[in-house]
Amino acid sequence: MHPRAGRADGTHSMARAVFALMSPRQRDGLRKPPPNELVSGARLKSPSQPADGHSVPSYDLICIGSGPAGEKAALVAAQFGRRAAIVELAPRPGGAMVNTGTVASKALRETALVASAMRRRPIPGYDAVAPVGLSMQRFMARRTLVQMEEHDRIEGGLESAGVEIVRGRGEVVDANTVRVTRADGSSELLNTQYILIATGSSPARAKGVDFTHPAIVDADGILELESMPRSLAIVGAGVIGSEYASIFAELGVAVTLIEPRSTLMRFLDEEIREILKQGMEDVGIRLLFGRATSSVEGLQNGQARTTLVDGETMDTDCVLWSLGRNGNSRGLGLETVGVVPDERGNIKVDSHYRTACATIFAAGDVIGFPALASTSMEQGRIAACHMFGIPFLTRLADTVPMGIYTIPAIGSVGLTEEEAVAGARDIVVGRAHYRDNARGRMLGDDRGLLKAVFDRKTGALLGVSVVGEDATELVHFGQLAIASGHGIQHLIETCFNYPSLTELYKTAAYDALAASIPYRAAA
Ligand SMILES: Cc1cc2nc3c(=O)[nH]c(=O)nc-3n(C[C@H](O)[C@H](O)[C@H](O)COP(=O)(O)OP(=O)(O)OC[C@H]3O[C@@H](n4cnc5c(N)ncnc54)[C@H](O)[C@@H]3O)c2cc1C
Repeated sequence: MHPRAGRADGTHSMARAVFALMSPRQRDGLRKPPPNELVSGARLKSPSQPADGHSVPSYDLICIGSGPAGEKAALVAAQFGRRAAIVELAPRPGGAMVNTGTVASKALRETALVASAMRRRPIPGYDAVAPVGLSMQRFMARRTLVQMEEHDRIEGGLESAGVEIVRGRGEVVDANTVRVTRADGSSELLNTQYILIATGSSPARAKGVDFTHPAIVDADGILELESMPRSLAIVGAGVIGSEYASIFAELGVAVTLIEPRSTLMRFLDEEIREILKQGMEDVGIRLLFGRATSSVEGLQNGQARTTLVDGETMDTDCVLWSLGRNGNSRGLGLETVGVVPDERGNIKVDSHYRTACATIFAAGDVIGFPALASTSMEQGRIAACHMFGIPFLTRLADTVPMGIYTIPAIGSVGLTEEEAVAGARDIVVGRAHYRDNARGRMLGDDRGLLKAVFDRKTGALLGVSVVGEDATELVHFGQLAIASGHGIQHLIETCFNYPSLTELYKTAAYDALAASIPYRAAA
């Protein structure tokens, strides 16, 4: 076995550890190039017999797309001794995760929180005023810096693992051939044993909305705004719309959040959702729920007008259209290999992330829900493991957490109270308020709440929902407890740091205990 030298993301040292645990037969299987018939019925082309009869470079894996799914799949393959390449059409790697999504929006959130810190946590007797009139350029500066650092990290990791990055637009020619078309129109064919489609997703755009008007943007376009809007209407209170509402409101922008459904993010615990709504209203966000939008039009004065179905209109400096995303599966030549995406562009895969074509896998946003950077990375790694028979990571964890970077933030894992009740589970709920926690008080978070759902009989933790400071981090402790079958007893026996927000878990466990054992009444 020859995991290549490299730091990448820790997969390298894990590769060595996994290799050490393998049987001699398994090791042997990894040392040898895999047989041509890995998949029943799928005779793989030999690299020496390329599709067009010319000599073309050959690989074990070509990932189309360098977002988290493509990056991690290529790294796993390379670190387990395979020749992997990534075809990427953008100038720098990272996909939506780095360039237009996760990292970009989260870096902006951190900047917004710095700008508002003195307002949120005032120092008694000290009159420091938060900076007003922050320019868009200054607001975006830190995000750009973090993105550049991420580009370097990804490129450095891929390089040291021996993954080639091929610049250009990738397209499937047949089950083992990818065509790469460069910006100058020239193209080359690459031969490969496996292909991973990791092309991500794009914001869904409504017909009749003029996205060429400078005041009308989607989640990609909002990062290109040249000046800070004074007012912003956001159509769609999903995760992305709600996060941007919080970020811009934190800077003093007058934000209206419009949602056709009766509330925001229905998959969240109701109590947690209510606290988020209160936090949003506190910072001045106007919430219009159960209000559908009939049109958005650009005005000559540079603003945009949003008209609701009930007739209300509002003119704002900017409108962010944030109603869903579609998988990037068009123009990939998938029809030539019998892979047919659904009407939202999503590709169907099996539990190994294999498509209808035996040598073509797909992972990340292009396969649809849950469409997160976190799950996309895992899916990419898992797909690569199945391709090459690597017993390293073969399935996605049962307990996948959700982090929503609104202000306040939300973390959620496992069952919500409503889901447990709907599933007729016999549960007991423990609550812990930030205001009753010393660290919560120091942070000035009066509204924060951690809610833990336990099985009433066994005391096992079934789910955690948190709203407040560090909620997206706190949730991981609950995730581990759920995965390892721990619950009330374990939380009560564990000694936590003081003062810490993690201690909220112990408070919630005692609260659940009090609710499940009416010891006060018995005493
Ligand atoms: C505003 C926003 C905030 C988000 N926040 C979070 C968050 O907090 N946490 C979280 O987990 N997730 C978050 N996400 C989701 C996350 O960004 C995506 O789930 C993740 O990036 C998907 O990864 P991917 O590898 O499938 O695709 P992507 O990251 O989209 O990468 C796809 C890559 O493929 C390339 N490509 C496309 N077609 C071709 C082609 N034909 N040839 C060559 N290259 C091609 C693209 O240029 C791109 O680089 C957010 C998304 C958005 C938009």
